[in-house]
Amino acid sequence: MPRSVVILGRPNVGKSTLFNRLAQRKIAIVDDTPGVTRDRKEVLAQIGGHEVLLVDTAGLEEAPPDTVAGRMRASSEAALRAADLVIFVVDVRAGLTPADRAFATWLRRANLPVLLVANKAEGRGGAAAAMETYELGLGDPIAISAEHNEGVGVLHEAVAEALGEAPEDDGEPVEDDPERPLRLAIVGRPNAGKSTLLNALLGEERMITGPEPGLTRDSIAVEWRDATGGRVRLVDTAGMRKKARIEERLEQMSVAATLGALKEAEVVILVVDALLGMDEQDLRIARLAEREGRAVVIAFNKWDAVEDRAAARQKLDDVLTASLAQLRGVPVVTLSAQTGRGLDRLMPAVRATYALWNKRISTGELNRWFEAALTRHPPPAVDGRRVKLRYATMPKARPPTIAVFGTRAEELPEEYRRYLVNAFREAFAMPGVPIRMQMRGTR
Ligand code: GDP
Ligand code: GDP
Repeated sequence: MPRSVVILGRPNVGKSTLFNRLAQRKIAIVDDTPGVTRDRKEVLAQIGGHEVLLVDTAGLEEAPPDTVAGRMRASSEAALRAADLVIFVVDVRAGLTPADRAFATWLRRANLPVLLVANKAEGRGGAAAAMETYELGLGDPIAISAEHNEGVGVLHEAVAEALGEAPEDDGEPVEDDPERPLRLAIVGRPNAGKSTLLNALLGEERMITGPEPGLTRDSIAVEWRDATGGRVRLVDTAGMRKKARIEERLEQMSVAATLGALKEAEVVILVVDALLGMDEQDLRIARLAEREGRAVVIAFNKWDAVEDRAAARQKLDDVLTASLAQLRGVPVVTLSAQTGRGLDRLMPAVRATYALWNKRISTGELNRWFEAALTRHPPPAVDGRRVKLRYATMPKARPPTIAVFGTRAEELPEEYRRYLVNAFREAFAMPGVPIRMQMRGTR
């Protein structure tokens, strides 16, 4: 979530002017209250290298009572308390007023990080006038002229310094080290052809197919270089274990073992026996993979032995459409692990899906999509009340995770969330990649 920078000050000191100035490097408009003169109070903007949620409290303090509490409506105060930084604006032409002092006292007590901005300090005498504001006890004033765009660069730098280093996103860092192996799991029902496929991928008989009594493969670690030149590590051999026991081939696959593999993997190859088609067990594995946030590629194996290929493929597509909407568009590679036919298309498909799974989308691009998606299909009212979605961010990739912020966002029906997920998937072409979308209510 971007950090919030809140502009505070009594009426007429130039908050809106400053807001508009700072918002020039805006990424997205996030709020919009028609009918109000100052209709844009929140914006995602780039300030001093930081992506921030810039909040203007102008108009929120219209109540005349001379107490600070009276001047700040509850929402304004909440925004302040949640602020990562407050830009407190005073007007050096008018000089300090009791209201300025009251705000300053409140800010000091609240112990919020504050930048004191002495506005309307353009021209001769401006800087000198700004000195007067030291007495507020909020540190060095930054003398600017919002209207004449003076000192705004210094303010940008001060904001950057106050916010510290640009925050790392909370997701795992995306390592683009080409030598880092892609962690792959090969899962599927017993007898689907997992071992045969692995052998084929390895290009040598390093894995042993077929029953062999007493063989334990629990700790197998295989790493190889695929045709694309990248390294691949097989993270687990779930389902390939203890295959020695013939009877296990007839058993249901072990959910626990599959889950273990999924947790360690980045991409999952789900091997499906094309002679049998995709059944409930296969779907269960695919859903587990989705639930664990893994990218999935389906290897539709034993294609050599399929007689009516068109029918088999159609049937598979029907099942996927009907029963695996969470992974819409999941890539399917028809192949024969045994003959090697079609095998060359498998790893490129894995790499492509992996790239999407890792993909980051800039907040700007994301919010342009977001606004368009909201326009096309506005969120429904909840309990007769309008739900206002403000903006979206992508806190992490691997898998792509979108956070949607807005008043009562979390109360929106599941169908609407799903609409957004699908719209996102389509807009950013992410077939077969699990997409997380968190709805977060604000205020
Ligand atoms: P707010 O009520 O704090 O949002 O203040 P506004 O941004 O609406 O500004 C109040 C008035 O001050 C407007 O007439 C602005 O044109 C003027 N103003 C804003 N910034 C400056 C400045 O840097 N210098 C001067 N001279 N006037 C300014
Ligand atoms: P696993 O239990 O998923 O590891 O499956 P195996 O790799 O042991 O294969 C199960 C059976 O399917 C074996 O008899 C394989 O020979 C056979 N098999 C695997 N891949 C293919 C294929 O592409 N075509 C055909 N016709 N049979 C295959």
